[in-house]
Amino acid sequence: MSNNLVDICVNLSDGVFSGQEKIIVQEANSNNVFKMVLVGNNLASSQKVAALAKQFNFISTAGYHPHNAKEWAKGSYQSLLEVAKSNYVKAIGECGLDFNRNFSPPETQNKVFLNHIALAKETNLPMFVHERDAFHQMHSVLKENMGECRNIVIHCFTGTKNALIDYLDLGVYIGLTGWVCDDRRGKHLRDFIDIIPDDKLLIETDSPYLSPYISSKNPAVTSEMKHSNQPAYLVEVAKDVAKYRNQSYDYICEITYQNYLNFFGVDK
Ligand SMILES: [Zn+2]
Repeated sequence: MSNNLVDICVNLSDGVFSGQEKIIVQEANSNNVFKMVLVGNNLASSQKVAALAKQFNFISTAGYHPHNAKEWAKGSYQSLLEVAKSNYVKAIGECGLDFNRNFSPPETQNKVFLNHIALAKETNLPMFVHERDAFHQMHSVLKENMGECRNIVIHCFTGTKNALIDYLDLGVYIGLTGWVCDDRRGKHLRDFIDIIPDDKLLIETDSPYLSPYISSKNPAVTSEMKHSNQPAYLVEVAKDVAKYRNQSYDYICEITYQNYLNFFGVDK
């Protein structure tokens, strides 16, 4: 299993990947990314990624991204529950709070997030959580309501050291993306990502967003690459995470793969 990478956040239902899924997966495979978690962001995309997970033998999530919380309707809980019955759906999400741009009103985001927590408890699936500019609210909601939740990951963590410490106190997992590679936005993370315990660390691309090349890390990179992240680029995230944690690349591959197995409760 050495050097195999698993990308815990691929938005393979995104329009930019439409019709390209096979190529994206092949490209990832040739860069040692053999497993992916395909993430749903509303009902339709959760259904689509469950089907793609079956097709490629990956796993997927079912949920409403906080941006899409306003789409939540009366039957949404039941519909997600149906999707979550698929053998390929291994987490509830992505769900959470994003007060950065408030594409959905904060009150709606809160209400919908609480529904996802209930769903995670009912299905006994781990929770795939998104939080941006909403740390205090997220922390208090989790602290109060996460009691019987199996596992929680705060994916794409981009916050402060204090926020990280408080999240780790709750016992959650932390997902790191190409923000770490980004000289403009992610530089602060480099000083403290080494406090994440080895058994709580996960890595991800969040593709097609957040290209690790966005900081022009690689001058040979084309502008097209900058704006189209893909799971194959997880290698860059793994390299920088290894660098700033003072651990070897091989070791990062090993622990993040093991954590993926533990977190999602899968055996390979
Ligand atoms: Zn997210």
